[in-house]
Amino acid sequence: MSGKIIDGKEFAAALRGRVADSVAALKRDHGLTPGLAVVLVGENPASQVYVRSKGKQTQETGMNSYQHNLPAETTQADLLALIGRLNADDSVHGILVQLPLPDQIDEQSVIDAIDPAKDVDGFHVINAGRLATGGKAMVPCTPLGCLMMLKHRLGDLSGLEAVVVGRSNIVGKPMAALLLGEHCTVTLAHSRTRDLPAVCRRADILVAAVGRPEMIRGDWVKPGATVSDVGINRIDTGGDKPKLVGDVAFAEVSEVAGGITPVPGGVGPMTIAVLLRNTVIATCRQAGIDEPDI
Ligand code: NDP
Repeated sequence: MSGKIIDGKEFAAALRGRVADSVAALKRDHGLTPGLAVVLVGENPASQVYVRSKGKQTQETGMNSYQHNLPAETTQADLLALIGRLNADDSVHGILVQLPLPDQIDEQSVIDAIDPAKDVDGFHVINAGRLATGGKAMVPCTPLGCLMMLKHRLGDLSGLEAVVVGRSNIVGKPMAALLLGEHCTVTLAHSRTRDLPAVCRRADILVAAVGRPEMIRGDWVKPGATVSDVGINRIDTGGDKPKLVGDVAFAEVSEVAGGITPVPGGVGPMTIAVLLRNTVIATCRQAGIDEPDI
């Protein structure tokens, strides 16, 4: 069983180590320190935890972390003005606006305002377009983390059947584009897909990004398939803290799959590590320096 588990914590720690090495080389060889600005509007407790964690890990890899905590009543104009200042600031190489934003602010307008070169989340339409057309994109962190783990586990993905369940702009669609870029035969499934279990059973690689606890059952999975569970669902079990479960029924599916990411400890830890990696890549591209292969 243990050989089946794809350990995202270990993989993320190794990636953070490579990021730290690249940051040290940028400082030594180019006198350049990558800087990541994270903007949080309001006091959403989950967002505060993510933002603190991002800041801490940014500093641990030797980069500069700039945190902007704005009150919940911040206007869209004020937020856009801050983004304009960060776009123009040469010490800031990556900008991340923590989502969700309060109701008075239009998320799309904010994403559109970020300089695509500093869009380390890869949500700007220019980066989505570059990814879709095989160009040099900033790639969304969660799907890129998934892909890195899949390539590490399986090597060449060429010709494999990949099924991605969920078609959001931040996970499902970029995941499908990445797998297509690796020459998989890709099916992108969603809430209108007919006979989803049969579609999932075709997959050599099955990625679940739905947000429905334990939806993917053991008999939906082809024996030996590799399963990436992106879902993070909080279940109230009556205890102090909610229990975290994925979109995959782990106990059943791990009996059938060849490899599976657990929740927690699978895809989740990779997201921030890839954000740091993207900040290094953005720094190199902005400075015209060759990108490290991390
Ligand atoms: P969205 O809610 O934006 O998208 C969910 C997708 O699932 C939609 O495309 C929807 O289809 C599809 N879907 C919903 N119900 C069904 C169903 N019954 N059968 C098939 N497809 C269905 O979610 P996100 O992509 O933002 O996130 C997905 C999950 O991943 C969530 O649990 C989220 O918390 C987690 N997540 C984890 C991250 C990490 O760091 N590990 C980062 C980001 C997200 P349709 O389009 O037809 O409505």
